[in-house]
Amino acid sequence: MTHPPSGAAAHPLSAWFLGPRAENAPVWTELFDHIFQDYIHWRRNYFPADPWIVGRLRRRSPEHEAWLDSLTGHLDGILSELKYHFPMHSPRYNAHMTSEQSLPAVLGYFAGLLYNPNNVTGEAAPITVALELEVGRMIAGMLGYDPARAWAHICSGGTLANIEALWVARTVQFAPLTVRDYCRAEQLAFPVRLPNGTEAPITSLDDRTLISLTPAVAGGIFRELAQHLERTRGLSPTAALGQVNAAVAASRWNIARRGLGPVLAESGLRPVVLASAAAHYSIAKSCNVLGYGEDAARLVPVNARFQMDLDALEATVAALRPEEYVAAAIGIVGTTEEGAVDPIHRIRAFREQYERRENRSFWLHVDAAWGGYLRTLFCGAALTVEERFELDVGLDTPDLRTEEIRWNDPETSAAFLAMADSDSTTVDPHKMGYIPYPAGVVAFRDSRVTEFITQRAQYLGDAGLGVGSVEDPVQVTAMGPLILEGSKPGAAALACWLAHRTIPLTSDGHGQVVRVTLLNARRLERLLTRHRALFLKLERERGTEPAAPSPFTFFPIAEPETNLVCFVARQMTWRDGGLVPAPASLGSINRLNELIFNAASIPGARSPHRLSAAQPFFISRTRFEEGQYRGATLTHLLTQLEIGERDYAREGLFVLRSTVMNPWHSEARQAGMDYLYEFVRFLHRSAAEAMREISPPPAP
Ligand SMILES: *Cc1c(COP(=O)(O)O)cnc(C)c1O
Repeated sequence: MTHPPSGAAAHPLSAWFLGPRAENAPVWTELFDHIFQDYIHWRRNYFPADPWIVGRLRRRSPEHEAWLDSLTGHLDGILSELKYHFPMHSPRYNAHMTSEQSLPAVLGYFAGLLYNPNNVTGEAAPITVALELEVGRMIAGMLGYDPARAWAHICSGGTLANIEALWVARTVQFAPLTVRDYCRAEQLAFPVRLPNGTEAPITSLDDRTLISLTPAVAGGIFRELAQHLERTRGLSPTAALGQVNAAVAASRWNIARRGLGPVLAESGLRPVVLASAAAHYSIAKSCNVLGYGEDAARLVPVNARFQMDLDALEATVAALRPEEYVAAAIGIVGTTEEGAVDPIHRIRAFREQYERRENRSFWLHVDAAWGGYLRTLFCGAALTVEERFELDVGLDTPDLRTEEIRWNDPETSAAFLAMADSDSTTVDPHKMGYIPYPAGVVAFRDSRVTEFITQRAQYLGDAGLGVGSVEDPVQVTAMGPLILEGSKPGAAALACWLAHRTIPLTSDGHGQVVRVTLLNARRLERLLTRHRALFLKLERERGTEPAAPSPFTFFPIAEPETNLVCFVARQMTWRDGGLVPAPASLGSINRLNELIFNAASIPGARSPHRLSAAQPFFISRTRFEEGQYRGATLTHLLTQLEIGERDYAREGLFVLRSTVMNPWHSEARQAGMDYLYEFVRFLHRSAAEAMREISPPPAP
């Protein structure tokens, strides 16, 4: 397929979204109409001599009109209900992981919606399956994989992508056991490369060793065996593949046929899935669905920045029982609660060391559902997420005016670069890709994994070539057999394709959007940190409203690594002209934050009393609990907040959470509206009111 060049070099962010006030509405209207008119012409020109079935008179008949009236009534009813929906497009919305959808994404989706292709198979969707494969290559490239060797496709979201990645890993891991049984039966001297670099005949290896081969070796083992049969037994490629496929089908290790239970019982092995305590709950769900059981998810403690603690990872692996094996280790790029980035490069280094020292490897999956698109900053021109700006909120102290923001600390960069060496990655276009739901992507570094899903080795023609790359769309004619889902919207593929074609996945394309979000998240964090210096100014600005009974301030839980800002409000007191924590029980601190949250959200999605139009700002929240984050790992935060670890263990901590992903924050400031400062003012006002509720002034 050939396409026009993706346009001029300049990529104007201001054209990419509808705009908070629907500023770009004229062009949206025009293009929607363009798509629909074009679609009408397509219908009209398909056998134009066919009769009009619904004639003018029919269209004007009373029943016809009455039904349309009723439809319009229902439609208007639901359109008015939708005004209770959250204004997620607005820079006033800093709550969940959602915001604007880009113009090309919406247009692509709308066009796809009209033609309604089903991307389960190329037969039902010849155009959009090809587009989906192209999107897969674009996203694989963004992640650092070789697009010609990778396999990536669209699914319903991050949850499905995580399940599928672990599902594929599970199948790949048991393949070497199948091959060993076959070689024993056939008395075949078939050598395999062990994780420590040595070689051994596969027939000599035990289950525990075979299940811990490197994903690269396990993933190629069917082809290797077929090629070995060709060389040593003089079989034709077809005959060799026939043997391998028959062996797979009949194998006692075939989980697809036998189910996991009997296979694990036979081997006595027990799977363990490693992820940090900040893992999204879809990881537990994956363990559940795959038959590992949620107990198989072993959550590794995090450090003060909510990244997986590598020492704890090593200790967890060292403490595995003899029958336990690592079914997957998961690194998170952008934790759902905090936006933290696990040190993928250090997990990779740990795997290398584990291979050398213990002769064992494991599948490395990266859950970048949230942070995957940040990798656009590493594609194309050099990274420039660094900016000096004036905090510019009327602080008198000059040294508090200018702040420098960086987002290229070497550890974070190294983690992003190391994503390329993972075996699979989850990324959500419907989060930081600004694509409408549903659109997740699961990507595999090595396209050969598709064979394990179809349970058939199927390399094409030239046996020497090995890899049957999915690059050639001819090969993937049907998605269905290779993925977990069945029917799925070709519209999602069209949306991603048009968006990524016109807003390229590079630092000067989509990277511009994510850059804005990173800088503004930092800015929000700085404003919250500086709140104590702003306190009196903000109190004055509240004018005649009753003064806060006592002061308070906000504590970011950590410097945000990406674009999520979590913080805790706390009661303070004046000392020597500055604010220091006031004596306060954890219960009252939690209550303060809960009240602020209530002020920045709509109680009950359809409450008739609180139209979203009357709600000036939105925030989300989370709760830290001992079961997830041990007090010991939060020492830094708890000390700052003067909260005892015991109290925390008993009560947990209510945390306010802001996703800063609206693309307009910087442009809005240029237009004279500093939404983040206004947000902080709102938080201040809400906190002052909450303080009055918690500790009302003494009765006169
Ligand atoms: C959102 C998220 C998921 C789940 O993705 P869905 O698209 O909601 O299914 C998984 N992992 C992480 C880190 C996430 O942020």
